[in-house]
Amino acid sequence: SRIQEVQLNEMVEDVVALSAQQAKYDNVEIRTSLQNNLPTIHLSHTEVQQVLLNLINNAIYALNQKGGIIEIITRMSGEYIIVDVADNGPGIPRAILGRIFDPFFTTKPVGKGSGLGLSICYGIIKRIGGEIDVKSMVDEGTTFSIKIPVNIEGS
Ligand code: ADP
Ligand code: MG
Repeated sequence: SRIQEVQLNEMVEDVVALSAQQAKYDNVEIRTSLQNNLPTIHLSHTEVQQVLLNLINNAIYALNQKGGIIEIITRMSGEYIIVDVADNGPGIPRAILGRIFDPFFTTKPVGKGSGLGLSICYGIIKRIGGEIDVKSMVDEGTTFSIKIPVNIEGS
């Protein structure tokens, strides 16, 4: 995980392009709302890509070929860049919301999910001093928010 200069908006556009084919196939529209002039941050390209792709893939899967909208927003909040990945899918029941970041927790059928995606995201974001949160309402949708410090410790 080499440390590189990262323009988060460019990374978002890259992963949206990578997801475009699957999104189209599943009748999902991906919208972006990216704040101009975000500061450059120093972290591993692959790791940021892994986090964003996992959140987008989870959202596409949750929309379950019924179509829907994924909205990705970037913005500044104090010394942090926030990235929200929101979908208007089925939501996550309260009873399992506290377990989704646990390694191997999955509600997907065997072969469809390892249950490792969110625990890997959590590990990556925590290690750079950030945070990852989820807000979800059944039948309304789910929003994951990642908070990345502009000045990352150890870089
Ligand atoms: P996996 O995708 O292999 O199941 P993850 O760690 O990525 O593992 O996700 C864990 C679980 O969290 C999923 O199985 C699903 O139940 C839930 N989940 C994650 N993202 C969403 C979402 N956008 N909408 C609804 N449920 C979600
Ligand atoms: Mg996943």
